Amino acid sequence: MQRLSFIAFILFQLVFGQHAHSDADRRISFPDIKGYKTLICDLHTHTVFSDGSVWPSIRVAEANKDGLDAIAVTEHIEYQPYKEDIPHPDRNRSYDLTKKYAKKSELLVIAGTEITKSMPPGHSNAIFVKDVNKIMNDDYIKSYEAARKQGAFTFWNHPHWIGQRKDASVKVYEEVEELINKRLLHGIEVTNERTYSDQAIQVALDHDLTMIGTSDVHNLVDWDYKIPQGGHRPVTLVFSKRKNLKDLKRSLFQGRTVVWFKNILIGKNEWIAPLIDASLTIDSAGFYKDYELGIVKIKNHSDSRFILKNKSPYDFYQHSDLVEIQPHSVKQLSIVSGKNISDFNLEFEVLNAIIAPSTHPTITFSVRNIGEVELKDVKF
Ligand SMILES: [Zn+2]
Ligand SMILES: [Zn+2]
Repeated sequence: MQRLSFIAFILFQLVFGQHAHSDADRRISFPDIKGYKTLICDLHTHTVFSDGSVWPSIRVAEANKDGLDAIAVTEHIEYQPYKEDIPHPDRNRSYDLTKKYAKKSELLVIAGTEITKSMPPGHSNAIFVKDVNKIMNDDYIKSYEAARKQGAFTFWNHPHWIGQRKDASVKVYEEVEELINKRLLHGIEVTNERTYSDQAIQVALDHDLTMIGTSDVHNLVDWDYKIPQGGHRPVTLVFSKRKNLKDLKRSLFQGRTVVWFKNILIGKNEWIAPLIDASLTIDSAGFYKDYELGIVKIKNHSDSRFILKNKSPYDFYQHSDLVEIQPHSVKQLSIVSGKNISDFNLEFEVLNAIIAPSTHPTITFSVRNIGEVELKDVKF
């Protein structure tokens, strides 16, 4: 019996164990882009100091397990369901504790708060604040002004949230427009927790707001995002000159972000393009001597599973027009050209990346001089 259950265990591991994450490979990993470091950030988190279920030490441990560069502590100002058990007179307490727990790690901790008003303008996170107590105000405009006075970067949270917009549409209310025009609002969540909004992406493009995606985690991140089963928490990739709070804040004000959400990359083309260029590179290319086939190997340096749609005039011997490249792996493409070719371009639409609603960017690989690299015994 014991032997049988052992065999069952091994079988289970073989079938289901493949996509399980170990602590080492759950670390979120994206390459740096030209001129910038790629910082992996979760800019929206809760603990028992508002309506979350964990102590700040757990948020730090989770962030370090996920290999994050930075987290923001963003407790609700107005929503304090545990106040009876955890009195919260100093609203900077959650940040102070988080910072203390993160001291021995490389994790940057950003002081923030969630200004929690009814719609409009709804919820916003003010991050890089100096004193949350001074942001507390019944008048939302006064809260935003206090945040700006402290030099905060402020973004509109979940504008599509069904809790405040029953049909999940995004409406740029007059009040919100005023906040944008007065430079009191600088970014917008295009994804929040497990939800996504094309309309929020359009608002970001129309109003030149920084695109943000966050976990808004309240429970354990492993439960909410099924990380042991191969899931990942949604994060904002921020392109920063260096890894420090000052440069990170500047990068957010300058809109240098890409959101990673359920394997999809979302951002302005200006930042999606260099990220894809850094993520997918030609590993090697050559010519299969015995046949008229160019062989190009593409390497994926990122955690994203890329889904590419062929846009070039060539077919592939091993693939349809859809090519998937698993994270941190190499994909072999065999080019059916009908003749020996040496210099050519491969162009793909990147289906798992979004630069505007229903709009995917393209990537072009220029393959050169492969006629000079003769390959033998290529495996298909
Ligand atoms: Zn909220
Ligand atoms: Zn929240």
